[in-house]
Amino acid sequence: MAVTESEADSTNRGTPAVHEGILRRQSARESAARTYARALPIVPVRARGLTIEGADGRRYLDCLSGAGALALGHNHPVVLEAIRKVLDSGAPLSVLDLATPVKDAFITELFHTLPAGFADRARVQFCGPAGTDAVEAALKLVRAATGRSGILAFTGAYHGMTAGALAASGGAPDLQVGRLPYPQDYRCPFGVGGPRGAELAARWTESVLDDPKSGVPHPAGMILEPVQGEGGVIPAPDDWLRRMRRVTADRSIPLIADEVQTGVGRTGAFWAVDHSGITPDVMVLSKAIGGSLPLAVIVYREELDVWQPGAHAGTFRGNQLAMAAGTATLAYVREHGLAERAATLGARMLTQLRQLQHEFACVGDVRGRGLMIGVELIDPAAASVPEARGSEPDGWDSATAPHPADPELAAAVQRECLDRGLIVELGGRHNSVVRLLPPLTISDEQASAVLDRLADAVTAANRDHQRTG
Ligand code: PMP
Repeated sequence: MAVTESEADSTNRGTPAVHEGILRRQSARESAARTYARALPIVPVRARGLTIEGADGRRYLDCLSGAGALALGHNHPVVLEAIRKVLDSGAPLSVLDLATPVKDAFITELFHTLPAGFADRARVQFCGPAGTDAVEAALKLVRAATGRSGILAFTGAYHGMTAGALAASGGAPDLQVGRLPYPQDYRCPFGVGGPRGAELAARWTESVLDDPKSGVPHPAGMILEPVQGEGGVIPAPDDWLRRMRRVTADRSIPLIADEVQTGVGRTGAFWAVDHSGITPDVMVLSKAIGGSLPLAVIVYREELDVWQPGAHAGTFRGNQLAMAAGTATLAYVREHGLAERAATLGARMLTQLRQLQHEFACVGDVRGRGLMIGVELIDPAAASVPEARGSEPDGWDSATAPHPADPELAAAVQRECLDRGLIVELGGRHNSVVRLLPPLTISDEQASAVLDRLADAVTAANRDHQRTG
């Protein structure tokens, strides 16, 4: 959906000089830790749906969607209407954890969408408005409920930047974390991929839990993403997820599903756990549930609710605008079947992207679920790495083994995309996976435009890479 002239607000219209000035001041004043701002030197001034307009007047198709926070794209009319309604009503905007009609409506709509059998006996805790704070709350909750302290988490996980979430992501040793293999086909740690790779990953998990000398004490909980996002768009097989549910239930270990990125229709089901039919003990939700504004909650089985008052607090737990925007988003996705739409369109986009994989040796893998899509760039000229797809662990088969990741090429593809007016994210263990997270409202024509621009970008980046490499 293009931004039309009539929607233009002349007060925030930029010029190339304004654009340059803002970027210059940003690099002079903002932290060296900035990320997207480095790879995407744009200055958004207006946006609608899939489209962002920069201060330089250029338009972009935005497949980053606020790192997956925009299920309905930018400034969807139902979201704006919900926000305006709260503003016009004179309701307070920040209320800590007090009850309000806006919050009541949000909880009702949220519980309406939750897996059957979960919502009837669930509690919700509103957290500081970031996914990472909700992850902290989940870890704290299961530790309080079980009286145990360690956590099980997976290779390639991303759960956030605060101490506990970072530790669960493999970033810092503040928390005792037992690390388990997340099943993946393309770079299967056991060299086999497919159902056998997932079976071996599950057995490893069982043996870590049941071997008294595994070095991993009985944990307070297991945290997993049903599709790893930042880890490179790796969907967990449904069977494996059911197995993890059984493994944890049999051993009284609460299972935490981090659906911060996968929730609200993104993967082709309302919640990604719906694909496998499992009911976790705790769900961590953020990003899209706030309809583009900051909101984060955990929802959990009421038996775990051993908390004392104030066990998890935070000033900004009561963001009324985010709750109203979130209620409108959840209802719109549910009423318009956008999860199903994500499933069919995502499958079609994956099929088309696989043609790109046949055409270009540098496209190593194409994978995803729903509208969470990843394209892994590799260096086909370099020797294969010792994790083979389709080979036996003891029979290293270099013909089918994946080549090394190529982060430079991936960065070049991202730049070429930007030159063609397409915003994509990079992710994956080696930052070599081009990620698409378009809004669930993307039309067929827009999806074709995205794929055309991406194909052109891969062609150009590959050509230049071959020339310089
Ligand atoms: N969990 C997952 C699965 C995520 O993808 C993210 C963010 N990308 C987080 C947690 C952390 O969320 P936030 O950045 O809002 O703290």
